[in-house]
Amino acid sequence: MKGKINISEIFGENVFNDSVMRARLPKAVYKELRRTIETGSELNSEIADVVANEMKEWAIEKGATHYTHWFQPMTGITAEKHDAFISPIGDGKVLMEFSGKELIKGESDASSFPSGGLRAIFEARGYTTWDCTSPAFIKETDNARILCIPTAFCSYTGEALDKKTPLLRSMQALDKQARRCLALFGKTDVKKVTASVGAEQEYFLIDKEKYLKRKDIIYTGRTLFGAMPPKGQELDDHYYGSIKDRIADFMEQLNIELWKLGITAKTQHNEVAPAQHELAPIYEEGNIATDHNQLIMETMKRIADSKGLHCMLHEKPFAGINGSGKHNNWSIVTNDGHNLLEPGITPHENEQFLFFLAVIIKAVDLHGDLLRVSTATPGNDHRLGASEAPPAIISIYLGEQLEDVIKQLDTTGEATTSKQGDVLMTGVNTLPEFLKDATDRNRTSPFAFTGNKFEFRMLGSSQSTADPNIVLNTIVADVLAEAADEIEKADNKAIAIHDYIRRTVSEHKRVIFNGNGYTDEWVAEAEKRGLPHLKSMVDSIHALITEKSIALFERHKVYTKAELEARHEILFEEYVKKINIEAIAMLNIVRKQIIPAVMKYQESLAKSILAVREAIGEEAPVQSELLRSINENLKELYAAVGQLDANCVEGNSMEGTMEEKAKFYYHSIFRSMSDVRRPADRLEMLVDKTYWPFPSYGDLLFEV
Ligand code: ADP
Ligand code: MG
Repeated sequence: MKGKINISEIFGENVFNDSVMRARLPKAVYKELRRTIETGSELNSEIADVVANEMKEWAIEKGATHYTHWFQPMTGITAEKHDAFISPIGDGKVLMEFSGKELIKGESDASSFPSGGLRAIFEARGYTTWDCTSPAFIKETDNARILCIPTAFCSYTGEALDKKTPLLRSMQALDKQARRCLALFGKTDVKKVTASVGAEQEYFLIDKEKYLKRKDIIYTGRTLFGAMPPKGQELDDHYYGSIKDRIADFMEQLNIELWKLGITAKTQHNEVAPAQHELAPIYEEGNIATDHNQLIMETMKRIADSKGLHCMLHEKPFAGINGSGKHNNWSIVTNDGHNLLEPGITPHENEQFLFFLAVIIKAVDLHGDLLRVSTATPGNDHRLGASEAPPAIISIYLGEQLEDVIKQLDTTGEATTSKQGDVLMTGVNTLPEFLKDATDRNRTSPFAFTGNKFEFRMLGSSQSTADPNIVLNTIVADVLAEAADEIEKADNKAIAIHDYIRRTVSEHKRVIFNGNGYTDEWVAEAEKRGLPHLKSMVDSIHALITEKSIALFERHKVYTKAELEARHEILFEEYVKKINIEAIAMLNIVRKQIIPAVMKYQESLAKSILAVREAIGEEAPVQSELLRSINENLKELYAAVGQLDANCVEGNSMEGTMEEKAKFYYHSIFRSMSDVRRPADRLEMLVDKTYWPFPSYGDLLFEV
C-alpha cells in the first residue's frame, strides 16, 4: 500500500512562488517585484541581485546544482542549457554563485534554432531574458534537480525568436485596450486585464516495449502503417470508462509531479479512442498556462517512460480512430477577479458583457484565417474536418440563450429578454431537481461559448498554446482599440456603446453557427457565407503575411513584418521537414521490414503448395490463392514505394522558395504516402501474424 498523499503539502513545493518570495525576500524587494508582476510595469533591474541570490539559496536547499534559462524557441517545444552555480575562488575551491546578471540575461548561440532567416549562422548571438511573471521552478528527474527560469528568447537585434515574447506582447496589447474600454463603462480603477487560459490536453498511452518495435512511432510520433483491428471506438466504451490500474498508476504519479510544480492538474478521464486519455488543469494567466502546458506535456512523456509506457502527443497517432486535440479555454479577467465574459443571469441587460461579446464576434469574423493558421501543424491536417474535430472553418457557437439575445438586437435593435433553463425532469422522485443550464453543450464548434469563456477547440495536441493565444489576444485587442477610438469621441457614451453593439452584431453575425459543424452541409453553407476554408496547413500559412495581418500585428507591436515573414518561412520549413521524415521512414520500413517479411511468408506458402502436392498428389488452392493475392499487393506496394522514392528525390533537389517546396510535399509526397500505406495494410491482413515485423493496431491499442 502506498502512503497517503498530502496534496496541500506537496503542491508547489518545487516552485519559487509568491509565498516563497514573500517569506525569503526583503520586504521592499518583494513589493517591487510584485508590482511588476501584478501591474505589468517595468522591471527594476536593481533588485535582480537580491532575487537571484535568494533563488539560488532556495534551489540549493532543494538539491539543485545547476540553473537554466528555460525558453520556447520556434520548434514549439522548450529548450534549456544547464549551468552549474559554481564559481572558482582561486585556491582550487569553488563558491556557489548566481548573480542578478545571470538571472536577467543569458546569451546563447541562436543559429541552431529555427529563425526563418532572422538569424544567419555568422551572426548567431541570441539572448534569453527573465520573465518574472512566470515563476521559476525546479525540474526534478531521477538524477538531477535543475532550477529553471522561464525566459524570453530574442536575437541580437531584438527580434523575437520564440513563442513567449509575442505572447507577452499580445497580453500587453489586450491589457491596454481592454482597460480603455472598461473606462468607457466607468471602470477606471482596473489595474490590469489578462487573458486566462485553461488547456485540456489529450494523449495516448501505449506499452513501451511495443513502441520500441515501431520505427514509425519512434521517428514520426505516429503510425504510418496499421490495419484496423476488429474493434475500434464504435462501442463508445472507452470514453469516461473506468481507468485500468496501470493507467491509474501513471495518472497518480503524473498528478504528484505536476502538483509539485504548482500545476493544478484537476480533471482526468479516458477519452473516446482506445488508449486515449485527457488531463485538464485549472485555468490561469495565459503566459503561465502556456509554460505549464509545456511542462504537462514533458512530464507526461517522462512519467510514461518511467512506468514502461510511451506517451503519444501526436494529433493523429492512429488512422481510423480519433486523434488528439487541445481545447484552449479563454476568457478575459481583471486584476480584481472580474471575468468580463461572465454573462450573468440576464445577459440581455448586461451591456458590458454584450460589448465584449460583440467585439469577440467581430474579431473572430475578421481574422478566422489567422486563428486557422495558429493551429496549423502537419499532424493537425489529419484531424481538422475529419468528423472527429471541427472543420478547418472558423465559426462561433453561442448557445440558445445568447443566440436569442443577439437575434433580438439584430432584428429590433433592443434585447428585452434572456431565455432561462428549466428544471431538469428525470421522472424519478428520489433524484434531486435542479435548474438546467440555459444552454446545451455543442461539441462540434471550433469556437464555442461555454458559460463564461470561449473554448477554441482546433488546437492540435502537440502544439504550444502560445500561437492561438497570441492571435486571440491581438485580434480582440485590435477590435477593442477600434471600438474605443469610436466611443471615446461620442458625447453620449451609453448610446454610442449600444449602437456599436447592435451594428457590430449585425455586420458580423455570419460567423455565428449553432448547428452541427461536422456535416458537409455546414461546409457548403460556410463557403456560401464567405467564411475562409483553409483545408491544410500549407493552404493556411499565407494568412500570416497578408497586408491585413502585418498591419494588425504591427499596430499592436506584437510582431514586426520581419518576424511574421520569418514565422511564415518556418512553418513551411516545418512542413517540408516533417513530411520528409515521414516519407523516408515509410520507405525504410517498407524496404527493410515489410517486404522481407512478406517474402518469407510467401516462401513458406510456396513450400506448402509444393509439399501438399508431393505428399498427397493434390493441389493446394487456398495457399495458391493466398500467395497470388499477396503477390498482387506486394507488386502494388513495390510500385508505390518506387513512386514515393522518386517524389522524395524530386522534392529534395527542388529549387525555389520554401513555400513552393512545401506545396510539392503536400500535393505529391504526402499524397503518395497513402498509396504506399494501402497495399501494406492489406498485406498485414493476409500475412501470418508471426511473420509481421511489428505490433499491430490491436496490440498497441488494446494491450496496454
Ligand atoms: P470540458 O471537458 O467540458 O470542455 P473541462 O472541465 O475538461 O471541460 O475543462 C475546462 C477547462 O476550462 C479547464 O481547464 C478549466 O479550468 C477551464 N476554465 C474554466 N473557466 C475558465 C475561464 N473563465 N477562463 C479560462 N478557462 C477556464
Ligand atoms: Mg473541452
